[in-house]
Amino acid sequence: MHCTRLTAVGGAASIDVIVSNRPDRNSPPRQAYSGSRIERAAAHRGDPTLLAELAESNRAGFYVIGGDAVALKKHVEELDPLFSPAELRTFGAARETVFLGLLDEAPRFGAGFDPAAVESLKERDDLKLIDLRSIAVQGAVAAEHLPPLAEAKAVLGWHARHRFCPNCGERTKVVQAGWRRDCPACRAEHFPRTDPVVIMLAIAGERCVLGRSPRFPQTMWSCLAGFAEPGESIEEAVRREVQEEVGLACARVAYFASQPWPFPSSLMIGCHAEALNENIVIDKNEIEDARWFDRAELKQMLAREHPQGLMTPPPIAIAHHIIRAFVDQGRNVLVG
Ligand SMILES: [Zn+2]
Repeated sequence: MHCTRLTAVGGAASIDVIVSNRPDRNSPPRQAYSGSRIERAAAHRGDPTLLAELAESNRAGFYVIGGDAVALKKHVEELDPLFSPAELRTFGAARETVFLGLLDEAPRFGAGFDPAAVESLKERDDLKLIDLRSIAVQGAVAAEHLPPLAEAKAVLGWHARHRFCPNCGERTKVVQAGWRRDCPACRAEHFPRTDPVVIMLAIAGERCVLGRSPRFPQTMWSCLAGFAEPGESIEEAVRREVQEEVGLACARVAYFASQPWPFPSSLMIGCHAEALNENIVIDKNEIEDARWFDRAELKQMLAREHPQGLMTPPPIAIAHHIIRAFVDQGRNVLVG
């Protein structure tokens, strides 16, 4: 079965706008990548003349991505992820360009480059290359850039992995401003994919189950998670994953919130689930460890005040907010 993406990120049921993940701000930190203010303006995608004008306008801004690396401009006090059309030309020709939409009428694009070409930019003193997870964790750019960066990374990553028609093998052509690839041989149309992942907290009374992936830092515990499979509802996927990973049967499943997770193309669907039994049986192929935690202990972990240093994922991750909701509301989270 799929690896469990326990690394998942965070969200809250009432997420409107990301405020910041920077620790020095007063506002409570929110999950990363959701809360986009971009108007996608999908009707523009089929108008190449208009798009060419938008791409040259003095309000146009481009996010520059090559594989996992995002290019940021160095300013005196901050890092800026947006490049003007003239600045973009200094990178050479993009492999693909995607129209992300309009932000307060300013056109936003994602420009995808060969990873090796972006790697060579390390030489430039005016740039910093960094991956999108680190950007969120470090609060390296203003939080409003995280959703469009996630949008750009997911679509450009899809292009990089889907240059040939899965139906007949012919090289495909980018159309619709980067939102479709067409096959000239068999006429198939291919669309960027999003892979649903369920991420859940199984609850029994005042306790819930957290697990550990071998990839985690030693002290980190998080929600269980796994890919939904074809032909499965969200509720069915939640119950199956909990059963497979820790041997618990679940009854009620309540949806909490979701989060785009462009590594490479997931949508995290956060839920709480009502566990019917308490005897954990760990599938060691899926996770390294799992155990029950009560709300008081979880509260210490969220605040990074646990006596053994145990902790939950940071607020950029939806897992953080799924756990926090249970700490705040107890079993009421199951009412949905
Ligand atoms: Zn084809």
